[in-house]
Parts: sequence; C-alpha cells; structure tokens
Amino acid sequence: SMKHRVTVIGSGNWGSAIAKIVAENTKANPDVFHEEVKMFVHSGPQNLTSIINCIHENPKYLPGITLPTNLFATPSLPDAVSEASVLIFNVPHQFVSSICRQINGSCLPYARAISCIKGVDVSPDGISLFSDTIGRKLGIYCGALSGANIASEVAAEKFSETTVAYAPPEGSTHDFPQGLTPVPEELPAVDHVLFRTLFHRPYFHVRVVSDVAGVSLGGALKNIVALAAGFVDGLEWGDNAKAAVMRVGLLEMRKFGKMFFSQSCRSATFTEESCGVADLITSCNGGRNHKCAMLSVRTGKSIETVESEELNGQKLQGTITAREVNVYLKNKGLEDEFPLFTAVYRILNGETKVESLPQLIETD
Ligand code: NAD
Ligand code: 13P
Ligand code: CA
Repeated sequence: SMKHRVTVIGSGNWGSAIAKIVAENTKANPDVFHEEVKMFVHSGPQNLTSIINCIHENPKYLPGITLPTNLFATPSLPDAVSEASVLIFNVPHQFVSSICRQINGSCLPYARAISCIKGVDVSPDGISLFSDTIGRKLGIYCGALSGANIASEVAAEKFSETTVAYAPPEGSTHDFPQGLTPVPEELPAVDHVLFRTLFHRPYFHVRVVSDVAGVSLGGALKNIVALAAGFVDGLEWGDNAKAAVMRVGLLEMRKFGKMFFSQSCRSATFTEESCGVADLITSCNGGRNHKCAMLSVRTGKSIETVESEELNGQKLQGTITAREVNVYLKNKGLEDEFPLFTAVYRILNGETKVESLPQLIETD
C-alpha cells in the first residue's frame, strides 16, 4: 500500500529541529511513512546543503545536534515538494510568500500541510494566518503547529509540549470553491492521528486540536509580548514587572483572536494549550525576541543591530509582527484597544520610551 512522503521546507534553528523530529518518526513508523524525509535549504553563500548531507548536522543554524541519516537536504524547492504528500512549512514568516511563489505548480494537488511559522500575514487586504495564506497560494489545506518550543532545547531532546491544529473544510469554501482535492484512498488518512504520529516523541508531547486560528495567533502575538518582557528585563525592573507585562499581553492576545478571528478562535486555546500561555512564558524567558530586546535596552543599540550581531543569521519575528499588527490596528482605529501591542510598536519606532510602559498599559 502507499505511504506518505514528508518534506520540511526550512532549515533554520526550528526548521532543523522539527526536521529531526519528523525524520525520527518516519523511521519509527514505516507502515505509514516513507523513511526518507527531504528538507529544503535556502542556500546562502557557502553550500550548506552539502555540508548537512555530509556531516548530518546543520552547523550554521543548529550546531552540535546530530541529524538523522534519513533526512536529506536539498537546495531545490521543486525537488523538495514534487513527491511529498505532507509538507511542513518552517521558515521565518517574511520569506513565506517568496517560497510559495517558487513552489507554485510543483506540489501535489492532494498534499496536506502544517505551518510551524510564528507570524501573521498582514497586507492591504487585511490579516491572514500563515496556514491560510499557504493553503490559498498552493491550493492545498494547511494546519498549524505551535508551542512552548525553544528550538535548541527541543533539539537536545529536553522535554516540551506542543499544539497541532488541523481542521480541513468539508465541501466548497471561499478558499476552495471546488473543495479540496481528496487524499488518495490508498494513502493512510490524513487526520489528527497521523499528525500525532508524525510529531509526537517521548520528549515532545503533542496535543492535536481543531483551533487553527488560536494556535497560529498564540505563536505570532506572544513575540510582541516577549519584546516587552525583554525591555523590562533590560531595565532590571524585576520579575513582578515582567509578570505584569505578560498578564496584560496574554489578555491582548486573546482579545485580538476574539475580535478578528471570532468564528474559529477559542479562548481556551490561549489559556490551556502549549501554544498559548506556555509559549508566552518560555518566550519571555529564553526566547530570541526577549534576549535581543533586553540587550537593546542595555546597550542602547537598535534591536536590528543586536539581531544581526547576536543571532548569526537567525531571524526575529516579533519586531516585524509588532509593526504589521500596528498597521492593521491603526487602519481599524483600534490602537487604544491594545495598549501593550501599541506601546511595543512605539518603543521600536523610537516614539516612546520603555520607561513609559506602566502608564501606557494602565487601566482606569
Ligand atoms: P531562523 O531564525 O533560524 O532563520 C534562519 C532561516 O531563514 C535559515 O533557514 C535561512 O536559510 C532562512 N532564510 C534566510 N533568508 C532567506 C530567504 N531569503 N528565503 C528563504 N529562507 C531564508 O529560522 P527558524 O528558527 O527555523 O524559524 C522559523 C519559524 O519558526 C519562525 O516563524 C519562528 O518564529 C518559529 N519558531 C522558532 C523557534 C526557535 O526557537 N528558533 C521555536 C518555535 C518556532
Ligand atoms: P523566539 O523566536 O523569540 O526565540 O521564540 C522562540 C519560540 O517561539 C519558543 O516557543
Ligand atoms: Ca506581509
């Protein structure tokens, strides 16, 4: 009988860590998956692809971690996607549209996808989840994976949890007027059980839900809050101040979901799943957005300067997301409804000082 072929698009810090997990699970489940997993590598100046295939390590983005030998890096997007029935998207969000443009036409019409991307897609038309953007651009359905998952910890097989959301529409919808192309009957069904099999590890516990919007928004919006937490830590204001910023941030995350994605978004996703409060906690302590925001306050350098000096090519998502979310809120005249998100944007823009945060988020 037929089996699924899995491809990971992206090979950064988290892209490589997820590719490792997926390759471990395709090997452990040969009845459902082809063992070989392909990983698309955006080739920089040196030939990272051949280095990865030769030493089974990604020395640039995930140094010190041995990757499974059934994981094969490729610099070609058509080669990466053309035979894959399951596509895992894991690139910094600013590169998604260019990647989808390059893929267009070469993926299988019945492929299904999962987005591990933390960001929102803001355009003059409005706001879209990256799962929806990917699905619409490629004509395939895409769910989401997001959780409290600092990549280096997951790659070192330290215990964490994550949330996967998958809820393909039935029949015709706005994005799929013809309906989705069905997965061939010879293939194992693509459902919650399949995605648990693909991602769950003894050190990486998966809960599968149907709230794609809640899972996607938690991962995107907590990056704005993590910047605020980093600013506060940069000033050495202590744990109470940071907890206050996190509390207000969590409420704004949930409010944003309820206000703009009310049809699908569940409040409980933010407060009960790894992709919500747990990711907020881990990101406000050990994340890159937090770290760079803290160092920016300490050194007086811009956060973009800190990012390029400290991250060796890894990318912050919170700075872009804070600006994109602000564009969206400003267009709607709703900046005042989200005082923390708005304050982070204005601090990044040099319009206000970190020291003003308490007044800016004060209510009544
Ligand atoms: P990263 O921060 O390591 O970024 C580097 C990656 O971007 C490399 O693969 C590089 O080749 C690629 N890249 C650079 N320029 C490119 C271009 N022009 N076109 C295409 N690709 C290009 O990436 P990451 O950590 O794998 O993050 C991917 C997503 O996962 C992000 O949305 C991030 O928020 C999310 N995430 C990251 C972590 C983490 O701890 N790193 C954890 C959970 C989720
Ligand atoms: P950073 O991108 O800020 O490192 O956040 C990592 C993350 O999403 C942990 O879940
Ligand atoms: Ca955009």
